[in-house]
Amino acid sequence: MDISALLKRVRFYITVPTCVHCGERLDYEDRVFCPDCRSRYENVKLRNCSRCAKILSKCSCPNDYLDAHLVHRLIKIVRYVSSLEDLPQNRLVFSLKRENRDDVAALCAEELASAIRASIEDPSAFVLTYVPRRGSARRKYGVDQARILAEHIARLLGLPVIHALRSRARAPQKKLDAKQRRENAVFLGRRGVDLSGKRVLLVDDIVTTGASMGAAASVLRGLGAREIVGVCLAIAYKDPFVPFEKPPHFA
Ligand SMILES: [Zn+2]
Ligand SMILES: [Zn+2]
Repeated sequence: MDISALLKRVRFYITVPTCVHCGERLDYEDRVFCPDCRSRYENVKLRNCSRCAKILSKCSCPNDYLDAHLVHRLIKIVRYVSSLEDLPQNRLVFSLKRENRDDVAALCAEELASAIRASIEDPSAFVLTYVPRRGSARRKYGVDQARILAEHIARLLGLPVIHALRSRARAPQKKLDAKQRRENAVFLGRRGVDLSGKRVLLVDDIVTTGASMGAAASVLRGLGAREIVGVCLAIAYKDPFVPFEKPPHFA
């Protein structure tokens, strides 16, 4: 065993990582999920988009709101189901927002990087930016999850991250209705940022109505971006084309 593998193993046993979903201690071979929760998560990832029939990680359909804000493609991995708390994908999003676990961010970023490679012909033609977290939430939880995801993805794809936006939202989006979300989602371009002619991958952890990502995209357009592709771990919107079904484990 070489020294870096040894250090990795020592670090593993010192930090005692637990399954992000059920909280059980992980074995050294496990990553983020224990084997049971992993197989549930892999199962969730196989769900199809009802517009294009591809599995979500191969689909880049936006919702109508994003489409109207010139985000014509949205890359994603799973569907977040807000009425059912106990789902592995929900725990991943929760952990990204609250726990600042490097293994969780790394796993999500790897899945997103391969989804980006699968949906975009030439990722190297893009720059990355992210939908920044509201300042008070960032201070409370000590993490800007979209920024962390963007930085991990950037390393994997060899792309630059541009810190293009600042959040001016007053309240958490979570408790607001669609109209309030649109009013609350206020972003400003950072001074000196010029995206003229650039193709931009815009990263967020979750897209619910698209209000935040749509507003962020409009500001990026104002900074000169010529194309914006959304990237998120989870979508929470219900597809208007097909009635929403419960995932198999909760049928
Ligand atoms: Zn588990
Ligand atoms: Zn689709």
